[in-house]
Amino acid sequence: MEKNVKQVIEKVIEDVKVRNKGESEFHQTIEEVLHSLEGVLVKHPEYIDASILERIVEPERQIMFRVPWVDDNGNVHVNRGFRVQFNSAIGPYKGGLRFHPSVNLGIIKFLGFEQIFKNSLTGLPIGGGKGGSDFDPKGKSDNEIMKFCQSFMTELYRHIGPNIDVPAGDIGVGAREIGFLFGQYKRIRDSYDAGVLTGKGLTYGGSLARKEATGFGVVYFVNEMLNYHKDTFEGKRVVISGSGNVAIYAAQKAMEHGAKVIAMCDSAGYIVDENGIDLDIVKQIKEVERKRIKEYVNRKEGAQYVEGQKGIWTVKCDIAMPCATQNDINIDSAKILVENGTKVIGEGANMPCTNEAVEYFLEKGLLVAPAKAANAGGVATSALEMSQNSMRLSWTFEEVEDKLKVIMKNIFEASKNAAEEYGHAGNYVVGANIAGFLKVADAMLSQGI
Ligand code: GLU
Repeated sequence: MEKNVKQVIEKVIEDVKVRNKGESEFHQTIEEVLHSLEGVLVKHPEYIDASILERIVEPERQIMFRVPWVDDNGNVHVNRGFRVQFNSAIGPYKGGLRFHPSVNLGIIKFLGFEQIFKNSLTGLPIGGGKGGSDFDPKGKSDNEIMKFCQSFMTELYRHIGPNIDVPAGDIGVGAREIGFLFGQYKRIRDSYDAGVLTGKGLTYGGSLARKEATGFGVVYFVNEMLNYHKDTFEGKRVVISGSGNVAIYAAQKAMEHGAKVIAMCDSAGYIVDENGIDLDIVKQIKEVERKRIKEYVNRKEGAQYVEGQKGIWTVKCDIAMPCATQNDINIDSAKILVENGTKVIGEGANMPCTNEAVEYFLEKGLLVAPAKAANAGGVATSALEMSQNSMRLSWTFEEVEDKLKVIMKNIFEASKNAAEEYGHAGNYVVGANIAGFLKVADAMLSQGI
């Protein structure tokens, strides 16, 4: 039986590689997830009989479209838009939109696939999807961003809806973009469907604490993990890559838990502040002025700036929280971190460590909080935003944050219990995959082929 299961898994992985040529990030997540499911398939042969693996790796629907827009000088540009509706077994497709020049179908598929398991882990009824564009928002005026978002939604609107598919933000898409997207959806549909997008502004149906939720959630999850292993954030040196939404609010919550955050970065380079990073300065630079993090050293004495983003992992720390983008920590960075005595990895971004790096960390006995579980607080709070929209009411910041805390605690428990049940105690990476998979697989089984 076990041999048969191994063969089934390898065959599905092989087929994915043949059918989705060149999509290396998608192959990476498929390998990572499927290899962790061996024990589950041995115990549940019915999933093999119903070809759950073959079905779960194939998106239900993939949409690609042209996004033409006019810049401030009257020049026409054409970008490519994507929405991958990956799995709707447990709820409407749910997942962010990423605007970044690196976006292609393979990247959106990797993100959409991860979203299935993450969303399942939240315990809320949301399926998995993801979208975006290779549009680069950097250096664009507000007017150009608006024009792009309106054109993007002019095609996307026909594919989404509060009970169909509910996009939100991701890299390059924040409250400003969601506002422009929502405005265009409403204009075209002539209907106030607040629940069609999440991450909205607070004046038109957004949820308090949504902006902070992903970063806060990462720290709640890591804190649960630390507490379970009889440790805390108190006095720990923390390095956080990134300086977007996830990084900023992970830093804030880590500090509230008594940690010292000493380094952060953007795609150009990183800052080190041995006295502890002053987050008000980072927020002013990144959220208000939309400038480079380099600016920080002009405003804070004793801080240093180093060109090049990867170097951030040479800064000595107890806890490393990659909150920037995928494959930020490769095996070389992983080795440096371990050599420097890092004991805990808290993944804030999606798939921020290569598979090799994660295996190395686990082999060396580090505690790894995997992205699908640790960064699920963002999408969980998006689901809470959908609930508030359906009920036509708004909860207070505290009400939302309390629910988020409970959700993150439950996700940790579910990951821990699944890891133990399947003989991988302490391996929360495998535990999260198993716990996320079981609910979706069961729903798929119940709903037939
Ligand atoms: N982009 C976020 C994620 O990776 C949030 C998605 C959402 O809120 O729908 O989970």
